[in-house]
Amino acid sequence: MRMYSLDNAMDLDELDAWLKRTRQAVEQPLAYTCELKIDGTSIALTYEEGLLMRAATRGDGITGEDVTANIRTIRDVPLRLRPQALQSDITDRERIEVRGEVYMPKSSFERLNALIEAESAEKAEGSQPRLFANPRNAAAGSLRQKDPLITAGRDLATFMYALANPSATGAQGQWQLLDWLRQAGFHVNPNIAYCTNEQEVRTFCEQAINTRNDLPYDIDGVVVKVDSFSLQRQLGYTAKAPRWAIAYKFPPEEKTSILRDIVVQVGRTGVLTPVAEFDPVLVAGSTVSRATLHNLDEVRRKDVRVGDTVVVRKAGDVIPEIVGHIETLRPVDAREWQMPVECPSCGSPVFKDVDGVAYRCASAECPAQRLERLGHWVSRGAMDIDGLGPRIIDNLVEAGLVRDVADFYNLTVEQLSTLETGQLKYARQMSPQKREKIGDFEQVPELVGELVASKLFDQIQASKEQPFSRVLFGLGIRNVGKTVADLIVNHFPSADELCQASEEQLTSVEGVGPVIARTIIEFLQTPDNLKLIEELRQAGLQLRQDVSERKPQTLVGKTFVLTGTLEKYSRDQAEALLKQYGARASGSVSAKTSYVVAGESAGSKLAKARDLGIPILDEFQFDKIIASGELPD
Ligand code: AMP
Repeated sequence: MRMYSLDNAMDLDELDAWLKRTRQAVEQPLAYTCELKIDGTSIALTYEEGLLMRAATRGDGITGEDVTANIRTIRDVPLRLRPQALQSDITDRERIEVRGEVYMPKSSFERLNALIEAESAEKAEGSQPRLFANPRNAAAGSLRQKDPLITAGRDLATFMYALANPSATGAQGQWQLLDWLRQAGFHVNPNIAYCTNEQEVRTFCEQAINTRNDLPYDIDGVVVKVDSFSLQRQLGYTAKAPRWAIAYKFPPEEKTSILRDIVVQVGRTGVLTPVAEFDPVLVAGSTVSRATLHNLDEVRRKDVRVGDTVVVRKAGDVIPEIVGHIETLRPVDAREWQMPVECPSCGSPVFKDVDGVAYRCASAECPAQRLERLGHWVSRGAMDIDGLGPRIIDNLVEAGLVRDVADFYNLTVEQLSTLETGQLKYARQMSPQKREKIGDFEQVPELVGELVASKLFDQIQASKEQPFSRVLFGLGIRNVGKTVADLIVNHFPSADELCQASEEQLTSVEGVGPVIARTIIEFLQTPDNLKLIEELRQAGLQLRQDVSERKPQTLVGKTFVLTGTLEKYSRDQAEALLKQYGARASGSVSAKTSYVVAGESAGSKLAKARDLGIPILDEFQFDKIIASGELPD
C-alpha cells in the first residue's frame, strides 16, 4: 500500500482551519491522537509470520529502496514480533507492514561529523570533509549505505507509528494502535496525547514548540491524526496525503547575519539571478551562507543592501531564504544594489525582459549559460548521462573539448581519461542548491582515468538512443519542459516537421500557448541552433520518434472530466495527455462521463459525479493511466 506524505499547517490558524474542516466533514466532534513529527527518514518494515522479512524506504511512495540488511543492524527494531501481539485478529500467516521513522539522535550526529572531520584531516591535508548537513541527512545517508557494517556503526534508532493495514490488529484507532505497536516490541515515541477536544490539540502543539530543543532528537512539527479508523476511512485521501491527518509545522527558526555581497548567477537561458552571500549561520540544523534573492524586484522589495544585518531562515526548513533586514542596524554607507549592466560571466550587455521581471544575458557564447545548457542536456529527464557531473563538464569546457551539446559525441576515451579534475571555476555563479549538491560529491582523483573514461564514453554513446522528445527537452528551449516536449512530439514526431511548423500549428497543440509557440519558433529560426540540430543528426541522435511509439488508442470512447487543481499538470496539459490515448475531455459532468479526475479543492463537479455514481480518480490514479494508457480495474 502506498506511503503517503502529509499536508502541512504552517501556523495555528491553518491548524484551526483543518480542525474545522475535518469536524464539518464528519459532522461530529472528534478525538485526535497527537504525535511529534520526527525529523528522520520513513521506513516500512514487513513481517511475515511474525518475522522481519523486508525493510524499504519511502522512495516515491510506491517503490522504495530495499534496506533490509541495514535495518537489521538497528538495535531497537525487533526481528521477531512478540507473540502476544499476534494473538489478536492477526492470523500467523498474515503479512504486517509497520511504518515509522528512522532517526539519528542529535548527540550521535555531532559525534559522527566530528569523526568524519578527524578522519579527513588524517587522510589529506586541506581536503574538504564531507559532513552531513543535519541529523535527517545523516540518518538517510547511513540507512542507504551499501555495506551494512557501516550502518551498524552509526547510531540509528526508530519510532514506529503506523501500520499499512491497522485494523488487522483489532485496534479501533490510532491511540490503541500505538499501544499494540508497543506490545509487539516496537519503540513508540512517549510524547503523545489523546485529545478529546480541539483546545487540547492546540495546547499540545504549543507545548511541543517549547520542549523541542530539550529533546535528544530533532522534530519538525506535530502530527495530528483523527483517532478513529472508521472516521479516517470516511475522510479518505487527497492525491498526496490523508485528509485525516495534518502536520503542524513549527514557525521557522530565524537568525541574523551580515550580508557581505550580492553576486549574480547566470542560468541556462541567460537569466541573471542575484544571490545573497552572508556570514555563515546555523539555522534549523545546518550552516548556511548563501540564499537566492530571485530577481531585482525581490531585492528592492526586501530592501537588502551589502553591509545590512539580515534575517535568515529556511523556507520549508530546507531552502535558505532572506526574510529582510534590520533597519536600525543599517550602516550609514549602505548603498542600494544594482543589477550589473554587463553579464558577469562574459561581459555581454544585459537586457531586461520586455514582458517580465527578469534580466538576461543574450549572448549565446556566454560560458556560464553554456555550462548550464550542457548540464541540462545530460540531466535525468533529458539524456540521463549521470557520469557527466558539473566538475567534468566544467573541465571539458575548460580544455576546449566541448562547446555545445553535440561535442559530447565526438569525445574519445583517451580525451576523457586524461581529463584533469579540478576546482569549479564557475561555482560562484551557481545556485546555492546546486553548490550544495556538488559539495556532496565524492572526492575525485586527479585524472579521470581509463576505467571511468570508458564508462563515461559508453554512457554518452548509449544516450544516442534516447527518444526525440528527450532530445527536444534537452535542447533547453525556454518554456519547453518535459511535459510540453512530450505533447509537441506527439504532434510533430520529427525535427524536420517541427522546423516547418507555424505558430498557429503549434498553438493548436493542446497545452501549447502562444508564448511557448513563439519561443520554439524563435529557437528554430536561429542559425546556430539549426546547425546544432544538424550536428546532432550527424552524431546519430534520434530526431524522429517512431510513429509506432505514438500512444496506443486505448481510451477511445471514454470521456473524462477534470475538476480541481492537479499538482503536476495544468488542466490543459492533463486533458492533452488523455487525448493522446484517444480519450475525450469534457467540461461538464453528465451520465455520459466515464471518469472524473479530481484534484485539490474540487467542487461541484465532484459532488455531481458522486450523485451520478461516476468513478472518481485522484491524481495518483490519473498518473498511472497516462503512463500506461490502461484504465484502473
Ligand atoms: P512530509 O515528508 O513533510 O510530507 O511529511 C510526511 C512524513 O512525516 C512521513 O512520511 C513520515 O516519514 C514523517 N513523520 C514523522 N513523524 C511522524 C508521525 N508521528 N506520524 C506520521 N508521519 C510522521
